[in-house]
Amino acid sequence: MDERERLEQQEIEKRYNQILSSFRIEPKPKEKEKIEKAFHLAVKAHADMRRKGGDPYIYHPLEVARIVVADIGLGPTSVVCALLHDVVEDTDYTLEDIEGMFGQTVARIVDGLTKIDDGTFEAAEDTSLQVENFRKILLTLSDDVRVILIKLADRLHNMRTLSAMKDEKQLKIASETLNIYAPLAYRLGLYLIKTELEDLALKYLEPDVYNTIERKLEETNAEREEFINRFIEPIRKRLENEFLKFSIFGRVKSVHSILKKMNKKGVAFEEIYDLFAIRIIIDAPIESEKADCYRCYAIVNDLYTTYPDNMRRRDWIAMPKSNGYEALHTTVMSKDGRWVEVQIRSKRMDEIAERGVAAHWQYKNEGIVQQNSVLDRWLEGVREMLSRADTGNAFDFLSDFRSNFFEEGLYVYTPKGDLKTLPSGATVLDFAFQIHTDIGLSAIGAKVNHTLVPINHPLRNGDQVEIIYSKNQKPTEKWLEYAVSSWAKARIRDYLKDEYSKYYDEGETKLREIFKTLSLQFNSKNLAIVQNALVMPSKINLYYDVAQGRITVKNIKDILQKDEKSGSWFSSLFRSSVNRDVSLKEAVQARVEQRPETLVLGEDMDKIRYKISTCCNAIPGDDVIGIYHPNKEIEVHRTNCPRAINLMLQYGDRIIKAKWKKDEKIAFLTGITLTGVDRMGMIKDIMDVISQDREINIRTFNITAAEGLFDGKIMLYISDTEHLQTLIKKMKKIKGMDTVVRIENSK
Ligand code: MN
Repeated sequence: MDERERLEQQEIEKRYNQILSSFRIEPKPKEKEKIEKAFHLAVKAHADMRRKGGDPYIYHPLEVARIVVADIGLGPTSVVCALLHDVVEDTDYTLEDIEGMFGQTVARIVDGLTKIDDGTFEAAEDTSLQVENFRKILLTLSDDVRVILIKLADRLHNMRTLSAMKDEKQLKIASETLNIYAPLAYRLGLYLIKTELEDLALKYLEPDVYNTIERKLEETNAEREEFINRFIEPIRKRLENEFLKFSIFGRVKSVHSILKKMNKKGVAFEEIYDLFAIRIIIDAPIESEKADCYRCYAIVNDLYTTYPDNMRRRDWIAMPKSNGYEALHTTVMSKDGRWVEVQIRSKRMDEIAERGVAAHWQYKNEGIVQQNSVLDRWLEGVREMLSRADTGNAFDFLSDFRSNFFEEGLYVYTPKGDLKTLPSGATVLDFAFQIHTDIGLSAIGAKVNHTLVPINHPLRNGDQVEIIYSKNQKPTEKWLEYAVSSWAKARIRDYLKDEYSKYYDEGETKLREIFKTLSLQFNSKNLAIVQNALVMPSKINLYYDVAQGRITVKNIKDILQKDEKSGSWFSSLFRSSVNRDVSLKEAVQARVEQRPETLVLGEDMDKIRYKISTCCNAIPGDDVIGIYHPNKEIEVHRTNCPRAINLMLQYGDRIIKAKWKKDEKIAFLTGITLTGVDRMGMIKDIMDVISQDREINIRTFNITAAEGLFDGKIMLYISDTEHLQTLIKKMKKIKGMDTVVRIENSK
């Protein structure tokens, strides 16, 4: 054994002992034995393997196990599973071996963990693996929630060590983390893990933005500390006088949440007033914890001025969030006029907030919290949704699921006073379908709080809803836009599918004729090209549109001729794979090895065809990615574009890292919105600022004024983000100007 091996051996022992000392409740001798056995098996199984960064592979399962026990608070069984989580996947041991050695429960969890894979290369597959994967994650979640908790620990460690991965893999893993794992962690109440996952993902998705915010946080740190201490002092004194046991401290918000706020409000870092929150944790027995929290709340509001309309006062003790979060939040003004958010909660509430479900269930088992908690209801909802999920369209399923289950729900009442939970943003139609499919399909409107409204009327918390329906009603495609819940959408889709299939034969006959006119073969290859180009989810939809006369000879001609012409390297790739009869997957894999590591925008234009997507209008300086589709040009999006996020999830393996060529003086289209006080000469002043800069060209300029205020929108060509920032700064200096914000996404 050489020196390095000896040191590694020591490190392994050290990490293992750390796990053992992290248990909240000492494991029984039998359990300890199992952990020991799992440890030795994992060490043996991964003996010759190393992580991408060069560390011995065993560090990874050890770290996952440590997170599982120390940060999530799970017990011995979960630790055993965490240690073994990569054994079946990466080594010669089988699931049967595991079952023989550790029993059924461990084998079942390890199996669940093995099934959710981290994305192997499977390009050109149109149904998304990511989505399938996500469905699997949720299935295991409803089966045994420990699977997903261990998976979250696994993902956290992989994110912490992501720098060792290849660029395009980094982007894919980071986007999946931000869009699936972080929301899941939030839903399961794991705030700390959620926050860390978000920040790590952001670091890879928008490195410049991330680094800037982090730097600014550091620069302002000393001043902030001082402010916090000054603010806390009077509260501390009063609480001590009241003989409350407590701890009080300031907590800086995460980079991700700061950025979210900046984008939402269209303001700079310097204009975010709540970069931190004050947290007060009351140590009180369960019987008096609530009363003590309210007492503390009263003290804070007595010492400082509260926010005028009390809008920022949140009582999540009386009505906990659906992920189990309980606390009181209030925003008060400090002596020097700054708004400060104060969060008050008991030690138990804090532990649930930080550690999530595991802590929650621990309290539940001890009979401390209610049996049928909000979190249980949420899990119930997940199970229900999976059982009725529309298996035909995995992608819709994913986006529905995200909007349905990652956001706070909506509570409404039936005329009889029964409480129903709906996803936020739900409409009358969603409510109707939740009552009964037949009622949904025949709904024509509703009485909401005794006022008549249409089916697309959005509901609000506490509404009382009575559906009005009619036998003569007929759902249309528009309904898919009216409904928010996947349940309602699936039922509407089922209905439409039945309706459409009545036109199947007619559509097929018509399409055959069109193909004949164009002397094209009516074969599955050509059909697939047409179907893809028109973004039709199935042949039924295609034939329906043909039958309705919505698709013409010209449409088909355009599609198939355009396809002939596209000569980019990847369209030839897909063609060559057909010609030479090699499997598509192999062809892609071979090609990907040759493909440029990074797409250089402004340089590769002649070699690779790409287009800047108009949904987010990326300009040089923005963090961007490319997504390639067979037979089409590479789509370039900003990494924070919602459409790009969906595409990354759907086509995770088709992401190409993109960057801008330096010093390229090409103009790109972008937009800004302006608001301010309307006055004589305002428009002239705006135009002056723009015309002073000879490198800016205006495309459109709209301005409307009302009641002494104005609203403007300018679309212009500009060279990069720096240039844009300078322009925005100049605009802000115009007298009477209130906000100047870049349009993040134009619809
Ligand atoms: Mn792993």
